Amino acid sequence: MLYDHLVVRYGELSLKGKNRRHFENQLHETVKRKLRRFDNLKISKLFDRLVIELNGQPHEPVVGSLQDIFGIHSISPALRTENNLDEINKTALIALKDAMENTDKRTFKVTGKRSLKTFPVNSMQLNSEVGGYLLRNTENITVDVHNPDVEVKVEVKDTGTYISCQTFKGAGGLPIGVGGKAMLMLSGGIDSPVAGYLTMKRGVRIEGVHFHSPPFTSERAKQKVVDLTQELTRFSGGKIKLHVVPFTKIQQIIKDKIPASYSMTIMRRVMLKITEKLAEKNNALAIANGENLGQVASQTMQSMYAINEVTNLPILRPVITMDKLEIMDISQKIGTYEISIRPYEDCCTIFLPSAPKTKPKREKAIRFEQNIENLEELIEEAVQGVETIILEEGRSTETTFEELF
Ligand code: ATP
Ligand code: MG
Repeated sequence: MLYDHLVVRYGELSLKGKNRRHFENQLHETVKRKLRRFDNLKISKLFDRLVIELNGQPHEPVVGSLQDIFGIHSISPALRTENNLDEINKTALIALKDAMENTDKRTFKVTGKRSLKTFPVNSMQLNSEVGGYLLRNTENITVDVHNPDVEVKVEVKDTGTYISCQTFKGAGGLPIGVGGKAMLMLSGGIDSPVAGYLTMKRGVRIEGVHFHSPPFTSERAKQKVVDLTQELTRFSGGKIKLHVVPFTKIQQIIKDKIPASYSMTIMRRVMLKITEKLAEKNNALAIANGENLGQVASQTMQSMYAINEVTNLPILRPVITMDKLEIMDISQKIGTYEISIRPYEDCCTIFLPSAPKTKPKREKAIRFEQNIENLEELIEEAVQGVETIILEEGRSTETTFEELF
């Protein structure tokens, strides 16, 4: 347990001018909340970094947690020392030896960064002074400025100098909360949780919306979506609400009143209308989903054209251009894949014909939809019957019911 600090570097934040303070505060809040479970950590905000005092905590699990936080570019375990060249040299030597011990690493370079302008040694001089000291006090080790085995970062700040030899990649993106809120349509498949992850990556908070058709879709199918939402809380900076919409009645009526070739189109239109209502109720300004262009017959551009019309809200489709393999790759990385591939009965597949129309006409959809005279009432009833489940990272689930009558 050599390292006593972590240096946390921001991502795109530095580009955002006057919003910067807001972005930093959001990120700071998320970091504080996420690291609550570790005792004794001390988090300090510096100008363009967060510095975390570990106080005896091993750095690995803390780094792991930080890697789930959007807005963080990189993380380095570091040794802190006084702003004094002798101390810096000695500490850099300890860090370098540790980084090379029991490895075949033999080359290094020093990257000095003097943010404290009153420190008499500038960044360039730091490189040569510290580099020279390291060379004089080690054997069989050389400098390679282009492709070093170890990069010794020396960052001189007003709170001390931080020396690190290892840098972990952060999640990138923007801090959660800076981009407003979207309702994520969560099906239980592979794509929509990935869409949720990518939406959050742009700083947007999400609330889940799932259409559930008991008894045709089982409790297990719903549990799957609950588990997916739980998994996504890792990246949400706190809680995620999941709204489960009772959809059986509407699906049965669609089956009775709409020609089979248009039932998928109408069902999707109704899902969007309900999601829009829930967005309004929960102060969200957009809808996110896992739609992908051309992946299945129902996801053609013509189909989107016929469905999208029912709402004026922006629809975020983060996976629209991705290949299935790319989406699967992300789902494996974020831990949703294993949940998504559990077998279950999808409310869409049970009620729908095996061959929905791939090129539905908008006008026809509007006309057929009018077969359901009390659609607005049915939608309102579904909205009233929503069950909201609140999921929080590392916590068991807590459920609140909004009764139908
Ligand atoms: P996924 O892998 O996310 O299920 P998919 O490739 O199966 O997507 P579709 O079944 O056409 O594609 O669904 C497209 C999108 O519609 C889903 O990604 C999801 O956002 C939304 N959706 C579908 N079914 C439901 C549902 N039961 N509840 C909520 N949203 C749904
Ligand atoms: Mg699906």
